Parts: sequence; C-alpha cells; structure tokens
Amino acid sequence: MAGIVVIFDFDKTIIDWDSDNWVVNQMGITEVFHEFYPILPWNILMDRMMGEIHSLGRTVEEIAECLKAAPLQPHIIRAIKSSHALGCDLRIVSDANSFFIQTILKHHKLFEYFSEIHTNPSFVDEDGKLRILPYHDMSSPHGCNHCPSNLCKGFVIERIHASVSELGQKRFVYVGDGRGDFCPCLKLREGDFAMPRKNFPLWDLICSNRLLLKADVQEWSSAEELEKILLRLITTMSGEDKTSSQSPSFDSDCMVRVVPIPLHDAPRKALPVPH
Ligand SMILES: [Mg+2]
Ligand SMILES: [Zn+2]
Repeated sequence: MAGIVVIFDFDKTIIDWDSDNWVVNQMGITEVFHEFYPILPWNILMDRMMGEIHSLGRTVEEIAECLKAAPLQPHIIRAIKSSHALGCDLRIVSDANSFFIQTILKHHKLFEYFSEIHTNPSFVDEDGKLRILPYHDMSSPHGCNHCPSNLCKGFVIERIHASVSELGQKRFVYVGDGRGDFCPCLKLREGDFAMPRKNFPLWDLICSNRLLLKADVQEWSSAEELEKILLRLITTMSGEDKTSSQSPSFDSDCMVRVVPIPLHDAPRKALPVPH
C-alpha cells in the first residue's frame, strides 16, 4: 500500500455535474423543487423530491436510468483506476446519497475501486419510493457550524483518520469543489494535500483562509488536470523519504487573504434551472 488515502467529493468532482440537480431537471420536477427550496433543508428537500417523482408514477428504475445517462469523463475514470493501482485507499465523502452514487459508479464499473462511501443513506421503501436520510442522527447534532445539519464532512475525515491510523495510512489527499468540502480540508494535517477545483466555492474559501489549513494546496480546473496532478502527487508522496518533513511544493494561484468564513446558511448548491 502507498500509505495514502485519497478522498473524493462526488458532485462536480468525480462527476462534472450535480447528481441532485441532474435528477430534478431530468425528471421534470424543477417547479415543485423551487416551491419547496425556500422552506426545506437540502437533504430533506431531496427526500421530498423523491416522493414527488414517485407520486408522478415514475419508478426508482427510471431514476437509475436517468443517472446512468449522465456522462463521466474518461480522465476521472483513469485517475481513479491509476491511483488505486498505485496502492491508494480511495474513498468518497459526499452530500449526495448512496443510491445516486452507487448507481453511477456501478454503471461505469468503478464501485469496487472504493473502500468506503460516506454519504447520506438511501433505501427503497415498501411503496417503491426512494427515500434519502441524513448521514448524522438528527437527534444528536454534530455541532459544527460550517456544515449542514445532515452531514459534517470534517467529522467523517476524523473518523477516517482514526480508522486508518493503525494501518499505517498516514497521508491524505482531499479532492473537492464545494462549500461543504472546506470543513474536511481544515481537518487535514501537515503533509496532506487539499485539491480544490479552481474558481469553485472550496477554492474561494481556501484562498480566503489559507492560513487555517495545515495541508498543502494544489488546485485543478479540468478532469484532465485532476488526473495529472493527483497522479503526480501520489507518485511524489510515495517516493518521499518517510523521515523527511519536506512536502513537495507546487504552484497555486491561491492568494492569502483574510475574510470571515461563511456559515452553512448559504445555498449549498446551484439551483436547477426551471424549464
Ligand atoms: Mg461537490
Ligand atoms: Zn463540519
């Protein structure tokens, strides 16, 4: 094993789009989505939208077909397969849900490359309706004010730290784009890497609060760049003298600025476009 854990966000990172928005748009429920958006937290809203799809007589199989129809870039597929071949432990930490993620990964034959997927659980109920639940038990709040109540990705990172430390997997690479990926990046340690998607909310937050991160930062703009940079990082990290505290240095457009960190009440995702 390379001793490296690579953690991917899912929406707008592994896939170039947002799976929730994709399903809302493709299933033609943008109008009702916009009706409930102002009054429901995202996770509950998506569960409500699955109920809406069911009430229109559309099946879980149709949702699956809609997810399979969405493209996945060949560079991402290669990045996943190559980093796995280099001995990395690959994981996903996502605020989508287990049904969406598994359907897409299995369709592209990528599911087996991941040791664990940390996301909101989902299941099909007795009426054939897809249900989406929060990752955290809502009766015991996680208490992190960066994150939505259903999922604190930083909490997940700490759990992964605890579970892999005995296996000697010491260094992490975190790849993501969104506001919800900032909290887990704050949990990264010296020698780890944060890979924010350039000009997306995570990148903005890191650029504005660079001094809060212990990890090094390497931005990416395209799937091609993600593949190239991730593999270069893994190769460099694997080849480093374990006794050395030196980290590889890379160029970054990130400027150090100090601005307040926005709290979780800002919109989590871009809204689906009404038809
Ligand atoms: Mg994302
Ligand atoms: Zn958090």
